[in-house]
Amino acid sequence: MAKKWVYLFDEVSQVETYAGSWDGVRGLLGGKGSGLADMTRAGVPVPPGFTVTTEACNIYSAEGKYPEGMWEQELAALKVVEQRTGKKFGDPENPLLVSCRSGAKFSMPGMMDTVLNLGLTDQTAEGMLRLTGNPRFVYDSYRRLVEMFGSVVLGIPDEAFEKPLKAYKAKKGYKLDIDMTAEDWKVMVETFKKVVKKEKGFDFPQDPYQQLELATEAVFKSWNGKRAIDYRRATNIPDDLGTAVNIVTMVFGNMGDDSGTGVAFTRDPSTGDKKMMGEYLLNAQGEDVVAGIRNTDPIERLAKKMPSVYTQFMDITSRLEQHYKDMQDVEFTIERGKLWMLQTRNAKRTAKSAVKIAVDMANEGLIGRDEAVLRVTFENVDTLLHPQFDDKALKAARYYAKGVNASPGAAVGQVYFDADTAEKMAKEKKLDTIMVRPFTKPDDVHGMIASKGVLTSEGGATSHAAVVARQFGIPCVVGASAVKIDLDRRLMESDGAVVKEGEWISVDGTTGKVYVGKIPTVAPSLEEQKELLTLLGWADEIAARPGMRVLPDGRKSRGLMVWANADYPKDARRARSYGAVGIGLCRTEHMFFETERLPIVQRMILAGTGEERTEALNELLPYQRKDFDGLFEAMDGHPVIIRLIDPPLHEFMPDEEKLLEEVITMHVKGQTRGLKKKEALLQAVKGMHESNPMMGLRGVRLSIAMPEIVEMQVRAIFEAAADCALRKIVVKPEVMIPLTGTVKELEWIQPRLIRIAKAVMDEKKVKFSYKFGTMIEIPRAAVTAGEIAKLAEFFSFGTNDLTQMTFGYSRDDAERNFLVTYVAQGILPKNPFQVLDREGVGRLMQMAINEGRKTRPDLEVGICGEHGGDPESIEWCHIIGNNYVSCSPFRVPIARLAAAHVALKYSGKAIAEDK
Ligand code: PEP
Ligand code: MG
Repeated sequence: MAKKWVYLFDEVSQVETYAGSWDGVRGLLGGKGSGLADMTRAGVPVPPGFTVTTEACNIYSAEGKYPEGMWEQELAALKVVEQRTGKKFGDPENPLLVSCRSGAKFSMPGMMDTVLNLGLTDQTAEGMLRLTGNPRFVYDSYRRLVEMFGSVVLGIPDEAFEKPLKAYKAKKGYKLDIDMTAEDWKVMVETFKKVVKKEKGFDFPQDPYQQLELATEAVFKSWNGKRAIDYRRATNIPDDLGTAVNIVTMVFGNMGDDSGTGVAFTRDPSTGDKKMMGEYLLNAQGEDVVAGIRNTDPIERLAKKMPSVYTQFMDITSRLEQHYKDMQDVEFTIERGKLWMLQTRNAKRTAKSAVKIAVDMANEGLIGRDEAVLRVTFENVDTLLHPQFDDKALKAARYYAKGVNASPGAAVGQVYFDADTAEKMAKEKKLDTIMVRPFTKPDDVHGMIASKGVLTSEGGATSHAAVVARQFGIPCVVGASAVKIDLDRRLMESDGAVVKEGEWISVDGTTGKVYVGKIPTVAPSLEEQKELLTLLGWADEIAARPGMRVLPDGRKSRGLMVWANADYPKDARRARSYGAVGIGLCRTEHMFFETERLPIVQRMILAGTGEERTEALNELLPYQRKDFDGLFEAMDGHPVIIRLIDPPLHEFMPDEEKLLEEVITMHVKGQTRGLKKKEALLQAVKGMHESNPMMGLRGVRLSIAMPEIVEMQVRAIFEAAADCALRKIVVKPEVMIPLTGTVKELEWIQPRLIRIAKAVMDEKKVKFSYKFGTMIEIPRAAVTAGEIAKLAEFFSFGTNDLTQMTFGYSRDDAERNFLVTYVAQGILPKNPFQVLDREGVGRLMQMAINEGRKTRPDLEVGICGEHGGDPESIEWCHIIGNNYVSCSPFRVPIARLAAAHVALKYSGKAIAEDK
């Protein structure tokens, strides 16, 4: 049998057999086509039609012509539709009209093309006139066809049609399209036909089959149009999916006041509230609603206007939500009192509503908790933790205008009035931009994506700007009708206040308010986000389930824990409130940089004698003890890993070049006061100079060269821990030695430190458990991990250094010098300092875990490099058997979600050992 390229909506079971799964059906028929077919099967009123498959599109894209048999199958399917509707394509007596709509596997709103009213010609228009007795409707429909066909299929610029229409309306003194009469539209049909002739040199096709054939081809072509390609790049949709083409019987919402059209979401896509949210227009056709050009009515009003249609609509949409187990975004048309569903799809939503809907649906029993957790993306969580405007500053801010709060979040930027300029300013000049337009079209998406925020003066919550902004998490206010935009003069005005292009505004997508100038932002509080807290609680339960992983010896193990990197008690408190269950890295040297401490640190470094050094260290000790005390208190009962001093000493000293300059200046000016001291300092700093300090005297090497520093640190740690223990705080100190390369280093330093730990506990007469461990951040340490684990009771992967040393890329220079090019050229898939390199660095980690646990089966393993907060890297840590990941407190919520996602993905699988 010849290959099937075309499926009627009621042939969906055949498609399932062919495609093997529902995902396969979506791949073949596209989201829209599979939705229409699925609705047809569920008994929802869908206008008869059929879908040309994405396979046909891909062949067309490759060969530039339709696959063999496709057109014939399209004609055959059309015959069936004719039978079902009792109408005939091209029949002047009772003409069938169809729409031709694109629809890829993943929704790409407005990115590809659609043509409505195919089948209208001079002849069939006459038939329609007789049938409907509604000349205004017929000529309006006809001119729409000529216009859409002209722009979409024949590639004539929109302006070629818009200009004469505008001129005509001006001449007649009309403001809106609804002022146009039947006669007026009749004139426009002729005018538009002339536009086609003038632009293309041939007449608008009067053969309906030619119309259909060319429209199908145009949809195929639109898959590779610039808009669609840009959108795919931004959303990571693969290029080889292709689009399907849906041919659907036209139903008309513009046949009078018993007709209408609308769009609706089964829940509020902005807040997630369980409340139908939609808008409709009576006597209108599809794009009138979406384009936001006419003011729509809220869907509730339909209950009064057409009660039975409304009840049927509510019933169908609730069934659709139950069927797809997700919020639906539907399009519908009412033709002379009869409801038709034209589309349903899982609705795009804001981060806030994604979380709320997932939690609500799990509580309603529609989905399970695991599914709820999987439905929330890392980007969702990231957005929810994005800055909001500072409340105090907001009160003092200069209010400018208010519109619909279409996509939440705070955006501050300079105003640009078109997508190209907004993109250019953002990309080339690195400016924060706010794109301001009367309304947006698919051509504007690149400007929106490049901008911090979007403001429009027209349109509602389902307008193009709103939908796109929500999808990309860009704060957006739409329909701020007080704002009058003058695109020619490049300015906007609201209530007398003028904002010119390039000036700053602040857009609050959460409240819909717009302000003049820059308003400071603050990080949002997680505590107030109840649904997110619930969801993250579920995520923790998932990751903690026993048996999520299986250890090499067959024992069952949980998934990952999430700890945080925190240097100060306030960071530790934030980490706890964000859900971290341990501190994986406290970089103690950060405490040395504080203003009152740095001079003591410098004195300690420059000390000529042992006594001088001890004196300075004794001064530092109380500071450190206080810091550690605060950490233990904040983390009551949870482990706290404190890393001993790591960076090279010169980092604590004044800049060498600057010192030299000062010394020279003093010489030139003949200033002698303080000169000697400065020269001595310069000499000392010069003495510390290293050509490659990251590989020089730092980490454990520094501790061996100058053990007094770490001895003081260990004393401070244990004194603080003992004090806390005496105050009944449960302490679990873990001392981490950085940059170990050979076990001999640990053999040298660790016993000395343990002696101090024990001495302090004896002095304070208190006992608690503690650990000594090391960072694995030098390849040699990873390779010899079996030896190192003889002393180290835990490992923590310092993947910042491990990446640096494995690749031989300087972590300070590589990113600005060549990594961007490497990634652009495909030499590296991603920046390895952001996303863990599994093949190299990741293999070393795996080897270290295997070897380490051979020596010490219960070796605790974590990661504290930047990768600990990156979901892809977290996945690897789960696979190879880390106990926890540790990241910045702000990334803890994402890491908790990532730990749950990966636990579900690999549930019950054995930890992957290095081969
Ligand atoms: C690391 O190297 O990954 C690490 C956490 O330590 P630092 O960034 O302080 O060198
Ligand atoms: Mg390091």
